[in-house]
Amino acid sequence: MDDCLFCKIIRGEIPSYRVFEDAHAFAFLDINPFGLGHTLVVPKFHAEQLFFLPPEELAGVMPAVQRVATLLRNRLGCEGMALMQLNGEVAGQTVGHVHFHLIPRFAGQPAGWAPCTDPAAKDLAAVQRRILG
Ligand code: 5GP
Ligand code: ZN
Repeated sequence: MDDCLFCKIIRGEIPSYRVFEDAHAFAFLDINPFGLGHTLVVPKFHAEQLFFLPPEELAGVMPAVQRVATLLRNRLGCEGMALMQLNGEVAGQTVGHVHFHLIPRFAGQPAGWAPCTDPAAKDLAAVQRRILG
């Protein structure tokens, strides 16, 4: 889709801090992270919501979700991992291209979801370096 923000990121027309890419999926750091290493994994196939993603494309992207979750856990040393996927404005979706939020969770972190103020989490170049080693 020509005017889709995440399609533009996949095509490299908008810069991003990429952490993984394969034939089906593209993963990059969220610009407004809920915590250290907050990553979005998106199918390369454009679909606005989960309902409209062909099952074979979903099957293509899910291994990348697991692989990136494992990468984040290994590199950042988090104790847990939240996986979030929102569909429709009423659910809080703001970008109309299916995306899976991977949010590393660390012991002692307050519960709940909100953009964080931790400067270490917001230094995306440094976070990318840690993840890619
Ligand atoms: P949603 O609320 O639709 O599930 O999540 C959209 C996410 O995309 C938000 O967490 C937001 O911070 C992120 N986002 C929006 N625009 C950009 C962008 O230009 N670059 C990156 N890396 N993330 C973005
Ligand atoms: Zn798109």
